[in-house]
Amino acid sequence: MCEDILKLKNINVVYSTKKNILGDTKVVHAVNNVSLDIKKGEILAVAGESGCGKSTLAKAIMKLVDVKSGEILLENKNILDLKTNKELKEFYQKVQIIFQNPYSSLNPKMKIGQILKEPLEINTNLSKKDIEQIVEDKIKKVGLDKNCLNLYPHEFSGGQRQRIAIARSLILNPKFIIADEPVSALDVSIQAQIINLLKQLKEDYNLTFLFISHDLSVIKYISDRIAIMYLGEIVEIGKTEEIFNTPKHPYTKALLNSVPELNIETTKTKEKFHLKGELPSPENIPQGCKFNTRCPYVMEECKTNNPIETEFSKTHKCKCFLYN
Ligand code: SF4
Repeated sequence: MCEDILKLKNINVVYSTKKNILGDTKVVHAVNNVSLDIKKGEILAVAGESGCGKSTLAKAIMKLVDVKSGEILLENKNILDLKTNKELKEFYQKVQIIFQNPYSSLNPKMKIGQILKEPLEINTNLSKKDIEQIVEDKIKKVGLDKNCLNLYPHEFSGGQRQRIAIARSLILNPKFIIADEPVSALDVSIQAQIINLLKQLKEDYNLTFLFISHDLSVIKYISDRIAIMYLGEIVEIGKTEEIFNTPKHPYTKALLNSVPELNIETTKTKEKFHLKGELPSPENIPQGCKFNTRCPYVMEECKTNNPIETEFSKTHKCKCFLYN
């Protein structure tokens, strides 16, 4: 597990706010200079509060939003240069996304069989018989019966619909899957089943995942490495055990302390502060370290300057003046 499948180099996604009553707009940096390497076969989780830029990052990788600058290399090819239908088709065969809400991600007017067949009919020259076989295999693989193929999405529970969405993401044999909050719309009792299914599928199909979630207890269970995101920036990254056992950034520590069942482990740090206040709105991002308005350790320099990255191990890095 060492070859990179995806590399993000200094990715910036910006957008303009709507005009206010004076006719002014503001430029918002939804993703700010993000660099990440994702290794073949790993599950890299991106964690942070809602609104921190996680989903925009996922959309940037899926080419669903414009990237202002930077490079996104999939197997060493910059996907931002892909333009022709043929290139885009090849890209979407390799990369798939599972969205948070299985209610809205499946076409309510199509039977499940047709939803699953469609990508194969559009992207391959396989015979009808072969397509039907693949669809049956995939629906069984996600734990559903082939009789499901004749039903419509509304005839299933939330967990079953997410299984169908997962089957659809697998249908073209992708190498890389982005799972954007895949269990947060589900009942807690169903979440564990879906997480276990994703883990099993990763092994069976040798998949790589970018797993986006605000739920650290889920992330702890599934991920190999974790990137902590705050207001569009990665502020800490490390192996899962590094983030949970020796968190460095005050924001990471506050996030860990906000999960009751994880508190026992983070008491090692003897820093029991919790997150104060709301995430600043994208229109009012603070100068300097973006966490300075909520950080219990804020110093004068934090309000004007940006901290640089400190390396604690080959895999564990953090941006904070406490270590510069
Ligand atoms: Fe807190 Fe300063 Fe570190 Fe930012 S740089 S997290 S404000 S101590």
